Amino acid sequence: MNRRQSLRLIAGAVGAIAAGGLSRSVAFAQTAPAQPAGPFKLPPLGYAFSALEPHIDAQTMEIHHDRHHAAYVNNANQLAARWPELGKMPIEQILSDLSKVPDAIRTGVRNNVGGDWNHTFFWELMTPGGAREPSGDLKAAIDSAFGGTKEMMDKVNAAGGGRFGSGWAWLVVDKDKKLDVISTANQDTPLELGAKPVLGVDVWEHAYYLKYQNRRADYLKAWWNTVNWDKAAANYKTAKG
Ligand code: MN
Repeated sequence: MNRRQSLRLIAGAVGAIAAGGLSRSVAFAQTAPAQPAGPFKLPPLGYAFSALEPHIDAQTMEIHHDRHHAAYVNNANQLAARWPELGKMPIEQILSDLSKVPDAIRTGVRNNVGGDWNHTFFWELMTPGGAREPSGDLKAAIDSAFGGTKEMMDKVNAAGGGRFGSGWAWLVVDKDKKLDVISTANQDTPLELGAKPVLGVDVWEHAYYLKYQNRRADYLKAWWNTVNWDKAAANYKTAKG
């Protein structure tokens, strides 16, 4: 286990304790899927599958974390077996400059290491508790860039709703250090654009189809109820540097 993965595990355990007490984190550990061999590890969710109900249902969360995210991790480990450098570099560094990855595995890394990073970001951004709206520096920046929180949310919803097929919608600090709303396809990350995400929402059908079927707009509207604005504020602080 390298340092990054240790930090992830610690962060996940702390999150689990904060969200639901130690008993929940232990219960989760007993039901978590077997960890694959390799440098990439599936991080614990940090809260119960049912914690985000009614906005995101427990079955969706379980399948999304234990199967979809786990598949990206498993695939990333298979790629690391072909190119061991992959398991040694910081994940953000890999995704910020995919041109350093050998041609033969670049698409696999984009999809699977990107998928791992995006989903870890996503789980950490959601919480059953926490602040319900932005405050402080982040709120001031959102007001300045978009005219208000609702206007920013409308832009994210439009970016997610307008993404054809699978992908993500993001609020980012762009390479010029300005807040912007963008969308990426598939498991592409904002990192390769030189942008750092403040918040991001998964608009793949696997993120919402069981509960919302084709009603992506309803999922997006409900999703805002799960956002951990304290985490978004911390992301903003890190992104501003
Ligand atoms: Mn997903």
